[in-house]
Amino acid sequence: MIIKPKVRGFVCVTAHPEGCAAHVQEWIDHVKARGPISGGPKKVLVIGASTGYGLASRVTAAFGSGAATLGVFFDRPSEEGRPATPGWYNTIAFMQAARAAGLYAKSLNGDAFSADIKQQTLDLIRADLGQVDLVVYSLASPRRTHPKTGAVHKSCLKPIGQSYTNKTVDTDKGLVSTVTIDPANDQEIADTVAVMGGEDWELWMQALSDAKLLAPGAQSVAYSYIGPDVTWAIYKNGTIGMAKNDLERAARHIDSLLKLNGGGRAFISVNKALVTQASSAIPVVPLYISILYKIMKAAGTHEGCIEQMQRLFATQMYGGHTPKFDEAGRVRVDDWEMRPEIQAAVREIWPRITTENLAAETDIAGYRSEFLKLFGFGLPGINYDVETEPHVPMP
Ligand code: NAD
Repeated sequence: MIIKPKVRGFVCVTAHPEGCAAHVQEWIDHVKARGPISGGPKKVLVIGASTGYGLASRVTAAFGSGAATLGVFFDRPSEEGRPATPGWYNTIAFMQAARAAGLYAKSLNGDAFSADIKQQTLDLIRADLGQVDLVVYSLASPRRTHPKTGAVHKSCLKPIGQSYTNKTVDTDKGLVSTVTIDPANDQEIADTVAVMGGEDWELWMQALSDAKLLAPGAQSVAYSYIGPDVTWAIYKNGTIGMAKNDLERAARHIDSLLKLNGGGRAFISVNKALVTQASSAIPVVPLYISILYKIMKAAGTHEGCIEQMQRLFATQMYGGHTPKFDEAGRVRVDDWEMRPEIQAAVREIWPRITTENLAAETDIAGYRSEFLKLFGFGLPGINYDVETEPHVPMP
């Protein structure tokens, strides 16, 4: 079939297999070009491994330090005549490249929140790897079925305490408008913490520890975002921010667990705001990202997921370095985003953005092309006008 992008709001309902593979190859090429990461991880479990920061972590571990990787993710497989979600194609491309390079790579497609997928993962580690020395926790999900209670928790992106009004952009149509979001109630806050907070990460790490599948000195990292005050009401101080606070609580708990296991550690890395499937669903944030990209590209400091994760591994976690923690014990690879001159420029542009000047004042074009790339569209060297086979089985 001929596969073209079909954008519906903030998702694209199609994905291109060869385009996704080309995108993954760009990431692999970046990591290879940066050279080997000395002392890097050797056996890595990535939870949320098929797109965004989790996939970038997997690519960095494999192609930066020759790691065996096991990836867990939740994607819709391809069918005859129907494309998969992009993480399916990304994972296939990654596994083919890793295996061609002589690296172990296996994947489990299923609900990481479930006891069943956790058990399958433990069994696979025991059988194939013995132990893991790094666990990357990079889930972004709209819902979680609790493994003990069976309750279905749905996360939401809302302010807390009072309603929030700010500018936002319809990235597909290029329309700037004002959005007002009502505050979350207590149940919505608790549900968002249940989905995006730290309990599931703790369950994973406890299960791995109990099963003696963590190598002495094993590390674990999960990802968070803080951002500038223009987004705080919807992010840092909103429902998702409460979940991220809980993730930090879990990091401290897991850190004490890992310290007892041969001096390992767990921590949060605060990453840059980037176009991913998760971030495109947050009101206001895509407009911020469009402005940020413009300013950081002009400053020569723009990074994508792969640049961020390569820098995290090479300059904070491995390569002879130890993490440099902020006052709250977090690693900050959002440091270039948060530089005062970058944020001053965002603050200066923000009030004057309108639909009319959006293209000139922001990098909305860059946002759009990055968004389409997530689904395998707009990659150089791919002919999107020819027939392509959407059904690609997992190797
Ligand atoms: P993403 O949507 O690109 O990736 C999410 C991953 O989680 C995918 O591999 C998906 O398959 C997997 N997943 C979702 N639900 C699952 C489930 N039930 N079981 C198994 N796998 C499941 O998201 P992302 O933006 O890379 O986010 C990853 C983490 O990074 C999140 O914690 C997010 O808050 C954080 N982060 C994102 C940004 C950003 O701007 N995108 C910035 C800083 C931090």
